[in-house]
Amino acid sequence: MEVSHLRMNTERCTLLAEDGRYTLPPLPFAYDALEPVLDAETLHLHHDCHHQAYVDGANKAADTLQGIAAGKLPETLTMAATNDLAFNLSGHMLHSLYWQSLCPDGQDTLPEGAFDEAVKAAFGSFEGLKKVFRTVALGMQGSGWAVLGVDKASRRLVVLGVAKHQDALLPLFRPLLALDVWEHAYYLRYRNKRAAYVESLLPHLNWKVAAERFEHKSSCCHG
Ligand code: MN
Repeated sequence: MEVSHLRMNTERCTLLAEDGRYTLPPLPFAYDALEPVLDAETLHLHHDCHHQAYVDGANKAADTLQGIAAGKLPETLTMAATNDLAFNLSGHMLHSLYWQSLCPDGQDTLPEGAFDEAVKAAFGSFEGLKKVFRTVALGMQGSGWAVLGVDKASRRLVVLGVAKHQDALLPLFRPLLALDVWEHAYYLRYRNKRAAYVESLLPHLNWKVAAERFEHKSSCCHG
């Protein structure tokens, strides 16, 4: 992959615009930077349409909750709006993390340091981590995510299989790296072969950024 194909976003990634509304962060690389592993059409649809829909849904739910608080909308809308916010805002956050988790150049190694040590403590080795990550990504029933993060209660690394965008997340879980296994993430290129998508993406996961987040060195909002 030529460097000129990359458009890495080194600026602070943001989930929120200056006016307080949720906003779509730019893709941190060119749409064709991951060809042929991920095709540009899939990334356009996934980022510009699917992710944008979660941003819009989160703003709509937040507006509804504010309208209820201001007495302008009926209280009977509260539970539905709360559920909508959980789904859409989690979708917005996980997709923002997903883009940061992909690495066009490929770097199938772990940087040495505290993150590397935490991986060995939790999974035995880098291969052990990838084995668990692969198992979770392939094992999700229907739509969902494989997410590597830190359980802040135990300070241990853990891989969660997150159903939809918000189910089965631990309350003290700080995500470091996420892989989308909803069908819209891979169906154009891989059809029904999720395993082929996961195997192709594994060498392109951004472990360097995950390590920086783990060590609180990342300026990204997920850091
Ligand atoms: Mn998605």
